[in-house]
Amino acid sequence: MPEQPAALPTPAPTPDVLVVGAGPVGLALAVDLARRGVAVRVVDTLAAPTTESRAIVVHSRTLDHLQALGVLDAVLERAVVSRGMELYADGRRLAHVGFDGIDAVHPYSVSLLQTDTEAVLTARLAELGVHVERSTTLTALDARDDGVVATVTAPDGTGATIEAAFVVGTDGARSTVRHLLGLRLEGSFAGEDFLLGDVDGDHDYDPSCFHTFFSPGEATGLLFPLPGDRARVFAQLPPGVDPDRPVTVEWLQEALDERGVRLRVREAHWLTRLRLKHGQVPRYRVGRVFLAGDAAHIHSPAGGLGMNTGIHDAVNLGWKLALAVASGRTGALLDSYEAERHPVGADVIALSTRLTRLGTLRNPVAQRVRNLVLHLGLESTSLDERLAARVEQQRVRYAGSPVVAGHGRTVHPGDFLRLPRTQVADALARTPGHLAVVLPRGWPLHLAEGVTELVVTEEDEDALTEATGLTHGGIVVVRPDGYVGLVGDDPKTGVAQYLALLDG
Ligand SMILES: Cc1cc2nc3c(=O)[nH]c(=O)nc-3n(C[C@H](O)[C@H](O)[C@H](O)COP(=O)(O)OP(=O)(O)OC[C@H]3O[C@@H](n4cnc5c(N)ncnc54)[C@H](O)[C@@H]3O)c2cc1C
Repeated sequence: MPEQPAALPTPAPTPDVLVVGAGPVGLALAVDLARRGVAVRVVDTLAAPTTESRAIVVHSRTLDHLQALGVLDAVLERAVVSRGMELYADGRRLAHVGFDGIDAVHPYSVSLLQTDTEAVLTARLAELGVHVERSTTLTALDARDDGVVATVTAPDGTGATIEAAFVVGTDGARSTVRHLLGLRLEGSFAGEDFLLGDVDGDHDYDPSCFHTFFSPGEATGLLFPLPGDRARVFAQLPPGVDPDRPVTVEWLQEALDERGVRLRVREAHWLTRLRLKHGQVPRYRVGRVFLAGDAAHIHSPAGGLGMNTGIHDAVNLGWKLALAVASGRTGALLDSYEAERHPVGADVIALSTRLTRLGTLRNPVAQRVRNLVLHLGLESTSLDERLAARVEQQRVRYAGSPVVAGHGRTVHPGDFLRLPRTQVADALARTPGHLAVVLPRGWPLHLAEGVTELVVTEEDEDALTEATGLTHGGIVVVRPDGYVGLVGDDPKTGVAQYLALLDG
């Protein structure tokens, strides 16, 4: 059934932003824009949301963002919390990578079906008065200096145009927007072949961890517990398996058994075969048109990073577009989206490629060396904390961005601000603009339009003073996406300098 009933209000013919694609990334972006008061329309070619649940892991940093979007509680209600990864070799536990040690507001991942993540975001969007326009396919774009005219087509072939100030292509790996911009995904790694199943089954593994099985057998198996009796399982296939062989429960069960995954499949909800590849567009912005999510970067699901990275793209772009719509700033502020997010996308591709290579070694000697290194490295050094923080995307930062300024001791411009934890997280969910923490605490100052002062507790003030090194006083400006825009020693001039960067 189409999602939009007839009684809904007619969408604005000339929205500020047209979002093409209502996957998790487009929905997250639309929620962020709508909560900031931007007139947004979202179109999707599908008549109803997809029933394929691809991404299941939502990482720690993404939970920070979902909190700001106002959907964290709804996500947690539908998810299981994952506190670490267990690695096994030859039937024995090799190492544990715990997420508890990472310095984060939410030191854990959660697992839920992508369809649930999308449903939660869709409901939040509806709460904000925006409904996905389904069976509506973007077919052409005419980008001008002052806006973009998009042509959309219904299944019966009738067309319409939408004039928007900005268009964002969140239309997935086969993106039409990307194609219309003349861009393509550039990449090379095309390798391993996996069986994938979302199944109900019996196992006795810890439901609060992900599980990776390196051997026996010539390939790797993975198990991710999901809510209820459900689990996502992967089984790496050896080279040369007939590409047309139908995926059956029997084949999956046999593959799991061979890889030492002790799960008895009772019922399969989704079975498929997955061939890994990666690629990234060279540019995320062309004039008034932007790309985000799988439209801009695709890679191996190792590490479960695709949807997470796309949601981070959305949150990086949302406040910038909102400010551009409100103020007419279209220069440095909007360019900074690509400057900040393209390197992160490249880094994610490198990480997921490395994780895939590590997990899919075929040479028995290399496998033994890997197992030994992982056992010694992860059990007895801080490598597990670093790996956990990397996979949980808690190391994403925008140091060197053209729109951050100043310097700190351990909290730097471009870092995600975790201090004061709950207060910043709550304030970001309530406040559409920037937050500023003035040190030492005193009477609130009126700093600038769109900058709200946050008065922190004495304890947080001490921690922040220590982290920034602002022992003689100063200011920390937190951007609407939670990252530090400025660490400076003079509140008034610092804020003025920072805002001038956004104007550039
Ligand atoms: C098996 C598997 C497991 C994965 N596991 C994880 C994981 O655990 N964690 C993780 O972070 N990521 C994971 N991923 C990746 C994740 O699924 C994707 O990164 C994510 O779906 C990307 O979201 P998106 O919104 O960018 O694109 P999509 O989800 O592809 O959404 C794009 C939308 O655009 C619409 N569209 C396309 N063309 C048009 C058009 N011309 N006009 C209008 N609408 C259009 C489509 O109908 C679709 O609804 C996994 C992927 C796979 C395949």
